[in-house]
Amino acid sequence: MLNIKKYLLVLMLCCLAIPAFAQVVSFRLTGGAEAQHVFASELYGAKWMSLNHFFKLFGEIGEIDTRTWTLTATLSGKEYKFYANSAFYQINGKWHHLPTTVERLSYGLYIPEAEFIRVLKLDAFPDVLSDPSDGHYILSPGAFSVTDISIREMKNGTIVRIGTNTAFRKEHCRVWQGGSQYLYFSIYGATADMNHLTRSYSEGVIREIVPVMAKDMLQFNVKLRMKIDGMDYYIDPETQDIIISLRHSYQKETTALDENSIKNRWLIDTIVIDPGHGGKKSPGAIGPDGTLEKDITLDVSRRLGKLLESKLGVKVVYTRDKDIFVPLWQRPKIANEAGGKLFVSIHCNSSESSRAYGTETFLLSPKSTEQSIAIAAAENKVIELEDDKERYEKMLSPEQYILSTMAQSVYMKESEVLAQAVETKFGSRLGTHTRGVKQASFIVLIGPAMPAILTEIGFISNWKELSNLKKDSYRQEIAYSLYLAISDFKENYEREIKE
Ligand SMILES: [Zn+2]
Repeated sequence: MLNIKKYLLVLMLCCLAIPAFAQVVSFRLTGGAEAQHVFASELYGAKWMSLNHFFKLFGEIGEIDTRTWTLTATLSGKEYKFYANSAFYQINGKWHHLPTTVERLSYGLYIPEAEFIRVLKLDAFPDVLSDPSDGHYILSPGAFSVTDISIREMKNGTIVRIGTNTAFRKEHCRVWQGGSQYLYFSIYGATADMNHLTRSYSEGVIREIVPVMAKDMLQFNVKLRMKIDGMDYYIDPETQDIIISLRHSYQKETTALDENSIKNRWLIDTIVIDPGHGGKKSPGAIGPDGTLEKDITLDVSRRLGKLLESKLGVKVVYTRDKDIFVPLWQRPKIANEAGGKLFVSIHCNSSESSRAYGTETFLLSPKSTEQSIAIAAAENKVIELEDDKERYEKMLSPEQYILSTMAQSVYMKESEVLAQAVETKFGSRLGTHTRGVKQASFIVLIGPAMPAILTEIGFISNWKELSNLKKDSYRQEIAYSLYLAISDFKENYEREIKE
């Protein structure tokens, strides 16, 4: 009986204690320390907490000017200044603004709890949770997820590297342009030391980068000096840094060119055909009966070239027109020097499984991930036999890759449209299975400054497809399908320019 009375008494005391405890805001430092309770009060329907008490518990209180009610305190190596009846406060001498004024109550200066969490996030404790699930906020100092920004000017573009210590995914980021002068890049869930990141530049395409901390994202407002031609970004798989590439040319368009001649520059008047492999060094895939990929690709290329010349009246340039070896890096160079407007690389597929069959058409992957390099491995393999292997290693490293692919990324949309057209024609005319449009890191697709695709016209490792590929009529049908796809593409593309 006595025990129950005691129990009830304890229970009653607990009930009484709850309202008192509710008027605190609790914080805990990381590393298992006990939570500490900061005095709070109800005001205008919200919970306000004492700044004086908070800094006493977690920072260091400096002077309190009782005449003006100014509170100076340090926290995490930074100096904070709050003023009674003022919505302005300072961190390290820099002014910030609150949506409400700081009030003077029983225990010094008070601020709404939610506002103070925002203040902490802005500077000393970027990772503080805005909604504590277990009754207290956790303070983990110094863990800004964005650490720095660096800029590199290149010949044909600018690389902005956003240093991070968190593995952001591409979906966390968003980039868009505001007219020709502004670029906005936001990272959801990111935090940064605002004072440290603000940068302005005296040279190059970027005039200024201003970071802005919004509710749940970090945004960079980038002011540009000139119009850029294109942009892309990716996450460096090694460092987790975010790399933004801006493509632009420093030379201004010559104003002497009239509008028509500018339009004519874009007409598809020269088409580059790249017959895969060639020469003794690079036979390509070899069929079970000894058929060589290089012979089939050259034959289909010639057939296609003839159709394009005779039916479309365009100039056709071959990266090779006989059985010779041409290094991969040289093929796009030939295309660019010829003023090509389309680049079509023709290959045959091969698989360890003799059952695999069908066509597939590729465009360059914007990312040099292991997977996209692996898909292209068979066609890139020839570089092992070339004298200049280093050239390629560099090309496929993540940072160089994005630089090398910048020119091609501008034509990605067109490349995709063309690749789709090719697969559609194959699907309807060849009576084989279309494996669709894909992306991969083909070296031969990196360099062309024009829409570029690589098409695999069938599996040389599959008996049925091989017997087809050996037939003149079937190779002619492949060439004709390619011609139809290119013809459709050319028509649509040029109609858009002329409008
Ligand atoms: Zn090949």
